[in-house]
Amino acid sequence: MGEPIKTDVVIIGAGPIGLFAVFELGLLDMKAHLVDILDKIGGQCAELYPEKPIYDIPGIPFTSAQGLVDALMQQIKPFNPQFHLSEMVENVEKIGDPLFRVTTDQGKVFECKVVVIAAGGGSFQPKRPPIPGVEPYEGKSLFYSVRKMDAFRGKRILVVGGGDSALDWTLNLAAVAQHLTLLHRRSEFRAAPDSVNKMMALVGEGKIDLVLGQVTALHGADGQINRASVKTNDGSTMELACDALLPFFGLTMKLGPVANWGFELKNNELIPVETSAFETSVPGIFAIGDINWYPGKLKLILSGFHEGALMAQKAYHYIYPEKRLVFQYTTSSTSLQRKLGVAPEKAPQPRATQPA
Ligand SMILES: Cc1cc2nc3c(=O)[nH]c(=O)nc-3n(C[C@H](O)[C@H](O)[C@H](O)COP(=O)(O)OP(=O)(O)OC[C@H]3O[C@@H](n4cnc5c(N)ncnc54)[C@H](O)[C@@H]3O)c2cc1C
Repeated sequence: MGEPIKTDVVIIGAGPIGLFAVFELGLLDMKAHLVDILDKIGGQCAELYPEKPIYDIPGIPFTSAQGLVDALMQQIKPFNPQFHLSEMVENVEKIGDPLFRVTTDQGKVFECKVVVIAAGGGSFQPKRPPIPGVEPYEGKSLFYSVRKMDAFRGKRILVVGGGDSALDWTLNLAAVAQHLTLLHRRSEFRAAPDSVNKMMALVGEGKIDLVLGQVTALHGADGQINRASVKTNDGSTMELACDALLPFFGLTMKLGPVANWGFELKNNELIPVETSAFETSVPGIFAIGDINWYPGKLKLILSGFHEGALMAQKAYHYIYPEKRLVFQYTTSSTSLQRKLGVAPEKAPQPRATQPA
């Protein structure tokens, strides 16, 4: 276990609600670290529907989901939030009053006075490919994500899939692999056209192979794969030698470790909260956004924004128990505007003149 990172607040989940929580906490001088299992910021908006239009964000008649995430990132910039991506929070433990220890699957440890669970529908988990006998290879020579590119240097890599992840990793890993094959079940790709063009260019230059077909069996020993049997689209079969298999078949949402943090869950998937501050049954742990439940809850982004604002007001008293909180508007408070870096310059003071 490493040295703990000490901070005011740890936010579990960097979806739109976790991001806006940074803003509300920041206005009240609370520093936040965010942890997300995904390798990108933005939760469902970025992962599931980045290009879809959203029409019900107050005051913004139209934006794309990714556009909303980008705008939130710009809005929270003054508060310099620290992101820990590709890490899953496994454990939240109460070690003081209030003090929590938050641990990730990468061994990172945080100590904080407030925990904000903004975990949405739970953690995104990779879909297992429909190949018999994949389990013994998982985590040893079959991977659903790339944490360190260098781990694949000099290897014979087989990437399977036709979406953005498959194409992005094909393009990135081609440079470090001894040999790379991209296997997809049809000639149309769901990935961005630019990535498809770049991939085809690498195929044209003979730098990678593209095979149309499906894996039918894996071969190897002790978790180390050495070849895959492939049924190609023309009906023939072939054997592809490989040291690493990277299947990208999309993601599903599962509650994940949140289920083990001791909350009595509503319908086995939602954390009940009270509605004055969206605090859970454990003082100092809040749940906001899609992950929480209270009577009348609507799983809308605007609801989560409201929940984040009220959460911050209560969190303030855990971080600054001795201070009084004065309610202020960003339009009229110079102190808030200073935090946002938009305060008007102070008018120059008249110089004191010496009496003659
Ligand atoms: C197709 C589609 C269209 C939609 N359209 C609209 C719309 O028009 N308007 C609207 O208001 N809403 C819409 N929604 C719903 C909206 O996207 C959600 O309400 C919103 O994303 C919830 O935000 P969140 O931050 O609570 O959760 P999420 O966006 O789900 O983010 C939660 C994050 O937490 C992470 N996480 C979970 N568990 C852990 C863990 N243990 N450790 C680390 N990280 C973890 C996840 O990886 C995820 O990134 C739509 C949803 C979908 C799927």
